[in-house]
Amino acid sequence: MKFQQSHHQLHVVFVPYPTPGHMIPMIDTARLFAKHGVNVTIITTHASASTFQKSIDSDFSSGYSIKTHLIHFPSSQVGLPNGVENLKDGTSREIFAKICRGISLLQEPIELLFHDLQPDCIVTDLMHDWTVDAAAKLGIPTIHYYSASYFSNCAFRYIAKYRPHDDLVSDTHKFTIPGFPHTIEMTPLQTPDWLKVKNTANSKLFLDLAPTFESEDRSYGTLYNSFHELESDYEKLNKTTIGIKSWSVGPVSAWVNKDDERKANRGHMEKKFGKEKELLNWLDSKPNDSVLYVSFGSLSRVSHAQIVEIAHGLENSGHNFIWVVREKDKEEDKEGFLHDFEERMKESNQGYIIWNWAPQLLILDHPSTGGIVTHCGWNSTLESVNAGLPMITWPMFADQFFNEKLLVDVLKIGVSVGSKLNKFWLGIVEEIVVKREEIAKAVEILMGNDQEGKEMRTRAKKLGDAAKRTIEEGGDSYNNLVQLIDELKSLKISKALCS
Ligand code: UDP
Repeated sequence: MKFQQSHHQLHVVFVPYPTPGHMIPMIDTARLFAKHGVNVTIITTHASASTFQKSIDSDFSSGYSIKTHLIHFPSSQVGLPNGVENLKDGTSREIFAKICRGISLLQEPIELLFHDLQPDCIVTDLMHDWTVDAAAKLGIPTIHYYSASYFSNCAFRYIAKYRPHDDLVSDTHKFTIPGFPHTIEMTPLQTPDWLKVKNTANSKLFLDLAPTFESEDRSYGTLYNSFHELESDYEKLNKTTIGIKSWSVGPVSAWVNKDDERKANRGHMEKKFGKEKELLNWLDSKPNDSVLYVSFGSLSRVSHAQIVEIAHGLENSGHNFIWVVREKDKEEDKEGFLHDFEERMKESNQGYIIWNWAPQLLILDHPSTGGIVTHCGWNSTLESVNAGLPMITWPMFADQFFNEKLLVDVLKIGVSVGSKLNKFWLGIVEEIVVKREEIAKAVEILMGNDQEGKEMRTRAKKLGDAAKRTIEEGGDSYNNLVQLIDELKSLKISKALCS
């Protein structure tokens, strides 16, 4: 055993929120805590656990003190089939609302568990804002897990506070985010609904999903899956103006998922490593830096009209690509456009379609991959940065438009495809379709031989090197994690002395 579990060992409970963009980085972080000598318990439901349990079992067999505590998801109570417990399974507005309701019903059993387990600290997702009060009642400190950037947290807070968009005559006019060290311009259309709309019944769902600053303010501090070199100005801005303790410990996915099998299986129903061989062979057959990876994350869906434009844009660009498409889009594609496109790509060998879920870490870290088209979800952004890849930015909703600004305007490692509308994945407003010519143009800038693309690639590689250094012993993220754990240990000791 590397770490004997003992009475004196720091016990930290993690409460992830069941959507891949929140759950994946929190599980990676929980594993990191365990690898640094902490006794870790992850509270989750059965279906969610099936996406990461193998990693936990393997860490446990290696001598780390980590386990999953399963609670029952109230499927029948909310009218859902068994196993539908994750927001990514919400294929309609109705199912989505039921999953949210099911998640909210977990509050009571989780509170009871806090009481039984009496951990030294609870690391909780920003969406579980109620945990802060539940923990406070038991005298347990909570660490807020913010699976997004410092940049976007500052933007959300500053726009919510100063409302620079309120006096604009149109939603398409630009405003500047106040108080930022860089001039960041955007339109109200690009901000999330909850920032725009007043509290009406119609906006209830959006408002429920809005980050709860209040609970963050009452937490002991916030953990960021970020690193110093990536957004140092905003890390500083956050610390000096928002005044909440924070620790940057990213990129966590690179820190704990080192071998191909871990990379392939991370975040999805785990299976035997092997199916990826065909994909790896395809990638191996391509020259270095020649393949563009196209993915819009785990929640976003695009319209059929947009799918057609993407397909033509990629094909017309002439560059190699891997594109992750939802199986449901194929099922709904009555004319067989996607089927024909896949066949054509197989013949020409220019493109490789992955249905539903891609082994993203494996693809990003392959030497043939040279760039990504991304919806700018924070995890995909960090994973691409870590792989040293420049990006075509195609934000869709939530914080993604802020992440685009960081990538394009601050770090200068992204080309914007020109996305205009921040809409939740259920898409209740008319979609603005990005045309094939615009897509092909962005691909040419990113993957072609022009100076702009070359400079972007150089900057991205440099940032990728910094990402790798920061998690090595002595690096900033490494030190931050060690320092946080030490601080929590001191808290535990002083609490014991006082009782
Ligand atoms: N992911 C993956 N394969 C997929 C889609 C997503 O591995 O086909 C992972 C991705 O690597 C990232 C997470 O799921 O870790 C998605 O989080 P992100 O913040 O990028 O976007 P979201 O899905 O929350 O919109």
